[in-house]
Amino acid sequence: MPYPLIFATHNTHKVEEIKKFAPSEFHVSSLADLGWTTPIEETGKTLEANAWIKTHTLVEARKGNCFADDSGLEIEALDGQPGVFSARFAGEPVDANKNMDKVLRLMANENNRAAQFRTVIALYWQGKKYTFEGRVKGEILHERRGRGGFGYDPIFVPQGYDKSFAELSPEIKNQIGHRGKALYEMTRFLKQLL
Ligand code: IMP
Repeated sequence: MPYPLIFATHNTHKVEEIKKFAPSEFHVSSLADLGWTTPIEETGKTLEANAWIKTHTLVEARKGNCFADDSGLEIEALDGQPGVFSARFAGEPVDANKNMDKVLRLMANENNRAAQFRTVIALYWQGKKYTFEGRVKGEILHERRGRGGFGYDPIFVPQGYDKSFAELSPEIKNQIGHRGKALYEMTRFLKQLL
């Protein structure tokens, strides 16, 4: 019997990704699989806090093994902004184009273009808590490049590449990206428990 593991997310793209990666010994269910439609308020001030809010909400409701993730773009010259506020950097409703416009405007005269995407995963497993992290360093472009991906992908070039995340294939992005790395760390940990 595979071990049940709940992924506390409403994002179907992330669910597909983890279902592909998770070792077959684990059966990953999403909130949609559980019939859970209520949004979970992300009121934390850090990626870590938000990931744990989502995980704790599910643990309290279901008492089972569970994890959640939270990601953001951290720009050095903007003191780590937009960070935990990445999704709503330009306000509500969430609009990736407005978010990118705001970053490009704030960075217009800035020579230091260094930035990173960071993902934090909060895992509750058999009564214990574990945190995993994935990062990808890179630079903020002066204008958008490419049509793929989502969020800030068109304005971010990962270190060692000359294409933006929106120009790179999903396979490469997953291999070198923040979320892929954090998921890899968690699955590696889960595998050694078996
Ligand atoms: P989430 O926690 O994964 O939902 O990410 C929060 C926000 O960070 C997203 O709405 C995007 O604005 C930004 N973000 C996270 N990961 C990525 C990525 O891989 N590419 C571009 N933007 C991202």
